[in-house]
Amino acid sequence: MKKIEFYKHNLNGRDRSEVCRVLRSIFLTTGPQVARLEKELAAYLGVADVVGLTSCTAALHLALLRHGIGPGDEVITTPLTFVATATAILEAGAVPVLVDVSPGSGLLSPAAVSRAITSRTKAVIPVHLYGRMVDMRAFADLAKQHRLVVIEDAAHCISGERDGIRPGVLGQAACFSFYATKGMTCGEGGAIVCHSKEEGEWYRSARHHGISKNAARRYTKKYEHYDMEMLGWKYNMDDIQAALLINQIPRLDKYRNQREVRETYYRELLQDVPGLEFMQLPAAGEKSEHHLFTLLLPPDVSRDIVVLGLQELGIGCAVNYIPIHELKFFREKFGYRPEDFPVAHQIGTRTITLPLYPKLTRAQIRRVCKTLKQVIGKLKPDQHTHG
Ligand SMILES: *Cc1c(COP(=O)(O)O)cnc(C)c1O
Repeated sequence: MKKIEFYKHNLNGRDRSEVCRVLRSIFLTTGPQVARLEKELAAYLGVADVVGLTSCTAALHLALLRHGIGPGDEVITTPLTFVATATAILEAGAVPVLVDVSPGSGLLSPAAVSRAITSRTKAVIPVHLYGRMVDMRAFADLAKQHRLVVIEDAAHCISGERDGIRPGVLGQAACFSFYATKGMTCGEGGAIVCHSKEEGEWYRSARHHGISKNAARRYTKKYEHYDMEMLGWKYNMDDIQAALLINQIPRLDKYRNQREVRETYYRELLQDVPGLEFMQLPAAGEKSEHHLFTLLLPPDVSRDIVVLGLQELGIGCAVNYIPIHELKFFREKFGYRPEDFPVAHQIGTRTITLPLYPKLTRAQIRRVCKTLKQVIGKLKPDQHTHG
């Protein structure tokens, strides 16, 4: 039987012809298409400025540097995230401080974060996990009270909303990813939201070696020498990436709705599996991006055997996430034990992510659910973790 892929993108003919137009032009690197994307994304999100980068990881790194966070500083974040959230903190020279997540949602709660604040805490990086936003209003209040910077890891949530707030509106910075499996993609790419043109110019310089005049400017305007004004990185998005992304913006909300409909169908079909738990649904008035459909397998079932079983039967799936504190590098560097963050550990042990994308058909969802039930049902007693 044909494999059901974990993810399928939605690039169409129009996206491809935008790229071909760039390929036929003289200019391939950061230029007019990046500027166009930045403008349209800022309008979509309702923010002052957006700067195109090579990844969300780059965005997180630059956001920390922009706000003067470095050696000696602590940055609070979640253990239930992709490694990039924590590695960006280390790249900036600061110390990641993990705070356990809320059961049910897997989100960082402002109350839990407030208990971990010390005199060295300079910033917090909450993650809008699986597409649901954290309580940004409460985080903004907390930040004001303790003079903290809030940097949103919005890699899972570009189209969501909570309490009338969208990603990037309340945080000092918000970081987006256009990696291959994200809601809007160009293979590899990212962007940062900021709140003034002046800040935008800082990020534009920082993404390109700290050089004052980029190649497009030298090419299109009268020749001027460039100067290097600050230490920068090589994080600039190019026009090929931007061209691929531009027409995806107006489709974001439609795709969000299509994923929601598919998740609802999954929940309906899986509600009778004993011991299986869903993550909490978004509250009334809240819009999740429905980026990932993750669920918690029954506690007595080995997640890893289920993952392998599904794979063998042609169903793509993933694990989001093995918590940060259980990865070798972080275990060895910080001496973490799994039980240090028990909620993240519980979720990390039981979680599995099933395929969720607009091209996924109802028949495919039925097959995923049937196969999952079959795999769980067939486990021999010794393949259950206990009992
Ligand atoms: C994908 C992802 C990132 C990293 O994005 P890149 O664009 O690959 O750097 C960061 N945080 C989370 C939560 C992610 O899912």
